[in-house]
Amino acid sequence: MRIYISADMEGVAGIFLPEQLKRGTPEYAEARRWLTAEVNACIEGAFKGGATEVIVKDAHSSGFNFVLDEIDPRVEVVQGGSLSRFPGLDSSFSGLILLCYHAMAGTQEAICDHTMSSVDWHRYELNGMELGEVGIDAAEAGALGVPVIMVSGDDKVCAETKQLLGDETMTCQVKIGLARHYVRTRPPAAARYLIRDAAEEAVRNSGRMKPFKPEPPYLVRLEYNLTSGADRIRCDGVRTVREGPRTIVFKGDDLLEVITRSL
Ligand SMILES: [Zn+2]
Repeated sequence: MRIYISADMEGVAGIFLPEQLKRGTPEYAEARRWLTAEVNACIEGAFKGGATEVIVKDAHSSGFNFVLDEIDPRVEVVQGGSLSRFPGLDSSFSGLILLCYHAMAGTQEAICDHTMSSVDWHRYELNGMELGEVGIDAAEAGALGVPVIMVSGDDKVCAETKQLLGDETMTCQVKIGLARHYVRTRPPAAARYLIRDAAEEAVRNSGRMKPFKPEPPYLVRLEYNLTSGADRIRCDGVRTVREGPRTIVFKGDDLLEVITRSL
């Protein structure tokens, strides 16, 4: 059984400050070790749950965050980044795990809430549903027939997951957001046990989980923070339309193509 893990960083236990997420700071040097340990706990759980092959994507920022020497040698790692969010993911995979994720832009009392870019993006909608990164990634995987089987992070991203993907999807809450940079957290050592056990159960139950795939045609509406965000998008007036000063609409029948065009 093949499992794909996408690991962001905002949802790691103990992380709540921008310094912890930025390369080059002493806080980041510590935080990336916690991230690496949570990734390893997830890998361990996935193999215990029945996985035979695991690919892990280093998904935060430039995709260069794991302490590679410490990563479980049983997996393959994807680092760096480009338009394709999950290289190698296809219908042969039984599930996608979104590890250390965060709530969508505009969520109150959520640690480091944003959608893709905190500078640029204000609101992202697919067929009228507001989506954060959990939803966007679930739709990308869903287009390939792969379900999101587990999400970890704070209480808000867990609630967002249940609301969008339903109760079957496993969530693993490692901290509670009190404000954007104010946290009540499990210590990293405790969070690892929670993640390992949740991943094991999620992989074991992956057969029961359904891919997230809204019906075509697809319409993505992206609202930028500034008009300059929308200025950068080339519009043909048919498939890509400037709907307002800060809003672009992307249309099409191929879900993966429409999402990729909008990112
Ligand atoms: Zn991130």
